[in-house]
Amino acid sequence: MSLYLGIDIGGTNTELGVVNERGQVVSSQTLSTTRYGADYESYITALADLIKQISASPDLEGEVIGIGVGAPNANYFSGCVEQAVNLPWTKTTPIVADLEARTGLPVVLDNDANASALGEHSYGVARGLDHFVEITLGTGVGSGIYADGRLIRGYQGKAGELGHMAVGEPDQLCGCGRYGCLEASVAAPAVARRAVRLKKLCLEQGMWSELCDIPDEELTSKTVAEVALATGDSLARQVFDETGEVLGRALAQFACFSAPQAFILFGGVARCGDLLLQPVRKAFDKEVLHIYRGSIEILLSSLPKGQAAVLGAASLARERNLSYDSTRDLRLLSTLWH
Ligand SMILES: [Zn+2]
Repeated sequence: MSLYLGIDIGGTNTELGVVNERGQVVSSQTLSTTRYGADYESYITALADLIKQISASPDLEGEVIGIGVGAPNANYFSGCVEQAVNLPWTKTTPIVADLEARTGLPVVLDNDANASALGEHSYGVARGLDHFVEITLGTGVGSGIYADGRLIRGYQGKAGELGHMAVGEPDQLCGCGRYGCLEASVAAPAVARRAVRLKKLCLEQGMWSELCDIPDEELTSKTVAEVALATGDSLARQVFDETGEVLGRALAQFACFSAPQAFILFGGVARCGDLLLQPVRKAFDKEVLHIYRGSIEILLSSLPKGQAAVLGAASLARERNLSYDSTRDLRLLSTLWH
């Protein structure tokens, strides 16, 4: 059986997992990303050693035929991670060239949002869909646009920054320095900020909510979701109603771009399920252009929580293997010419 090795490079840990065709992680390992500090050479050597070890394991039923790597600020076309702020290396790191040279296996690199979308297509709820958009709701908002049977990567691999489209609340400042980005309204920090604001309003009006018993600094998207689900607290629910409304309106705008069959919500903020999904669907149905009405589903990711990133990374290698990709050969040719 053909196996793919998925590697997710995160700010704290690098997760490795061997994935079979059924989307099962059959073997996994973890390497500390921070252990080597800014010493990228030592990190990549340790990572290559771990790849060789996990690929050569006699317990594997099949052969690892490709490696997929998901990382923040990763560029599919250059094969490099470019100045990712939350990784220990400040320079541009040629992950693909370094791992191919050290392991002899073909390596595909892409940013984690694109990896998530492909993971959903290979192993999750988007299986069989040719047109969908995956929205990752975490510390930021990432997105992967899959249209006409392929991921849209765009010029220099920079497509799919839907989180920085100005379809959020206009007065919210985004980390990118601009106002009104979707990310500034619906990512986890925005949910927390909304909870703090509503709690303050509640106290000012002499009312009470379960959220009033929680200090501001502990009001995270996770704790508010837990309160809402456990007690049905109306203020906690309102936090997600407001978040969902902004997101639903944004998705209605995005629909015009690639006419997807589905939007798929993924990441920490989406884990509360219907609490977010219902207000998103309501706002979406109200705002979407009539020609799309009834044709676009809004779904939750079906990838298992702890394995989603590794499955996404493995799917990069799987997709490359299934669909011959001429851009890679063009890239190789251009390196030969220069
Ligand atoms: Zn922004």
